[in-house]
Amino acid sequence: MNTASFPHGIMFHHFWDHRHPAGQGAIGADDLVRLLRYLGPARILKAEDWLERAVAGRLEPHHLCLTFDDALLCQYDVALPVLDDFGLTAFWFIYSSVFEGQLRKMEVYRYLRTVAYPTVDDFYAHFEEVLGGSRYGDMAAQATAGFDPRRYLAEFPFYTDADRRFRFLRDRVLGHDPFEEIMDILVERAGLQAERLRHLLWMEDAHLKGLDDRGHVLGLHSYTHFTTLGEMSYAEQQREYLTNRRHLIAVTGHVPRAMAHPCNSYNQDTVAILDELGVEIGFRSNMVGAQGSRFELPRQDHALVMAEMEDR
Ligand SMILES: [Zn+2]
Repeated sequence: MNTASFPHGIMFHHFWDHRHPAGQGAIGADDLVRLLRYLGPARILKAEDWLERAVAGRLEPHHLCLTFDDALLCQYDVALPVLDDFGLTAFWFIYSSVFEGQLRKMEVYRYLRTVAYPTVDDFYAHFEEVLGGSRYGDMAAQATAGFDPRRYLAEFPFYTDADRRFRFLRDRVLGHDPFEEIMDILVERAGLQAERLRHLLWMEDAHLKGLDDRGHVLGLHSYTHFTTLGEMSYAEQQREYLTNRRHLIAVTGHVPRAMAHPCNSYNQDTVAILDELGVEIGFRSNMVGAQGSRFELPRQDHALVMAEMEDR
C-alpha cells in the first residue's frame, strides 16, 4: 500500500513499447498494470470525479488520481489501453507549442540519446568529440582542465563521473544556446528529422479530442513549458496560459478546468492568473506542501511508487 495519508495524484511521463524506445525512466504496459494493482484500482478516482470532489472539498485521504504530463504519444499508445481495461480516466496536462509547430528540444534530445547510442557513455563520448571540434572546443578544454568530478554535484551520489562532467559542460561551461548548438549537430548527424520526430513523440489534436470525448480531463501545462515559469513576469505568464488555453478550447470546445505546473515552477502571480482564467484546480509535481491551496495539489512521481513497490 502506498502510505501517504492525504489525497494525491500519481504523475507519469514516458512509456515504451515496440514503437516507442525504452529511454531512461520509461515503463511498459505490464509495469503500469502492476503499479495500478499495487496502488489498488478501487481508490483511484476517474478524473472528472476527482475534479468535482476536489472543488467541493470531498476528497478523502485514500483517494488517488492518475496524471500524464507533456502530451506524449507514448502515453496515448501504451497507457491509455491499460486505463481502458481498468475502466479509468486520467488528467492529461498539455503544453501547446508542439501542436503549433515548435518542438521542445529537451524531448528531442532524450529521444536522440535513446535511439542513437548504445549507452549513455557512448553519447557523452560523441558529445565531447563534436564539442572539441566546434568553436567552443578550446574554451571547453580549458574549463575542464582541472575538473574534479568528485567535487561537482557531490550532493547527488547516484551520478557517475561521466554524468558530472557532462552536466558541468552543459550548465557551467556552455550554457543554453551553445549547448543546443552542439546537440543540434548530433541530432542532424543521427539523421533525425524534426517533422518526423514531431509525429513520433507527441500527440496530435485528434488524440486530444478523442481523450476529451471519452471523459478524460485535459488541463493546462503552459504554452512553451519553460522550466522556470514562476520566475517570469506576470504578463509573460499570462501569455503562456492564455495561448495554452486558446489551443485547448479550440480542440475541445470548452474551458480547461485543471492544470499542472511545468517543472513545479510557479508563484503568487501564477495562482492569480489561473484563478482569473477560471481554472479550478492545479497540481504540483511533488508531495511537498500537501496542505497547499487548490492550485497546489500534491503528486507523487510514478518512479517513487515503483521503487516502493519493488522494495516489498
Ligand atoms: Zn511537463
